[in-house]
Amino acid sequence: MDRSSRIKGVLAGGSDGWEVFHKSRAMIAAGVPVTELTIGEHDIRTAAPILQEMHRSALAGHTGYAAVPGKDALRDRIAKRAEERTGVRTTRDNVVVTPGGQAGLFAAFMTACDPGDAALYIDPYYATYPGTLRAAGARPVAVAARAEHGFLPRGSDLAAAATGAKALLINTPNNPTGVIYGRETLTEIAKVCQDRDLWLVSDEVYDTQIWEGEHLSPRALPDMADRTLVIGSMSKSHAMTGSRCGWIIGPEDIIADIIDLATHTNYGVPGFIQDASNYALAQGDALEREIGAPFERRRTLAHQVLAAQNVVRLVPSQGAMYLMLDIRATGLSGSDFADAMLESLHIAVMPGESFGAAAAGHVRVAMTIEDSAFETALRSLCSFAEGRASRAA
Ligand code: PMP
Repeated sequence: MDRSSRIKGVLAGGSDGWEVFHKSRAMIAAGVPVTELTIGEHDIRTAAPILQEMHRSALAGHTGYAAVPGKDALRDRIAKRAEERTGVRTTRDNVVVTPGGQAGLFAAFMTACDPGDAALYIDPYYATYPGTLRAAGARPVAVAARAEHGFLPRGSDLAAAATGAKALLINTPNNPTGVIYGRETLTEIAKVCQDRDLWLVSDEVYDTQIWEGEHLSPRALPDMADRTLVIGSMSKSHAMTGSRCGWIIGPEDIIADIIDLATHTNYGVPGFIQDASNYALAQGDALEREIGAPFERRRTLAHQVLAAQNVVRLVPSQGAMYLMLDIRATGLSGSDFADAMLESLHIAVMPGESFGAAAAGHVRVAMTIEDSAFETALRSLCSFAEGRASRAA
């Protein structure tokens, strides 16, 4: 039986970018120990009190269909958190709870774009972005944020690509680069959205992982709340990746549309997961800081390790759980570097190319293993790079 062209088009005949990850998982399954620095998942599990609340809620009977838009109490909590952090008036009618940020991204583009509409996204990008846009029927158009510009997108490049586009997807703090978009960049982005009448989909799932500077949501910029859809998630902020709980914040009318879509797709998020998420959010930023602390610590360790050599260059970044390393001095591509590291050292890192052409010659390192093992792996990576660079010289 033939499948739809829509589903065949999701990966556009290309790869999903996760080859090194799949290969390292296969090696682990075959009994080969691999140091995994690929996927963005914490090395701690969801905290026991959050699970206890999940358990309590389930035993109290919250195992039936939950309200499709999300439970009032959780929507209120998310709205209050957004209003406190951005100053933008936000009520439960501006919020829909989704099964994770990923489902939120899909729903946002299903709602903002007609089939065939161009949707801009920034390269380097989180690996699912182009496939998500295609799955929603949009036509993905990459706009490069170049290494020499600190991986920040430029308004002029966006404007040049915006003709005929309907939406723009950005992500700050950024996966894979760790870069945070400052006010100047966001103001340029907002201007392009206003001049070209674009929806702005702002993926802010790393908004609690800020190691330098501050997180600014573009929804808070003048006249942006009516055209911005913010994607949020419990995954990264509360180590709840497996709970699949996220949200979209946006104008009431489009949120109502997204709720209609949810009725015909996922039909809500389990009530006991929502109660646990509400409990977790109620712990405030103290818990969020605690969850993020290991990444901040490892980032400091990485600065120390990298300062002792001059082959691998750390992309100056301010947030999230990743390091982007420029390995061009080795003469290798990111893919060849990652393959060789996996083969010879059994250390798995993601090639920059998995996140787009703009990250070629880089590798992304997830700071997701225990401190001393992380430091050792990074030292091995640097020695490996030094060996390759002297061969290349
Ligand atoms: N956006 C970005 C930038 C991500 O890195 C991820 C997960 N790695 C997601 C969205 C989706 O996260 P989730 O569906 O778990 O909320």
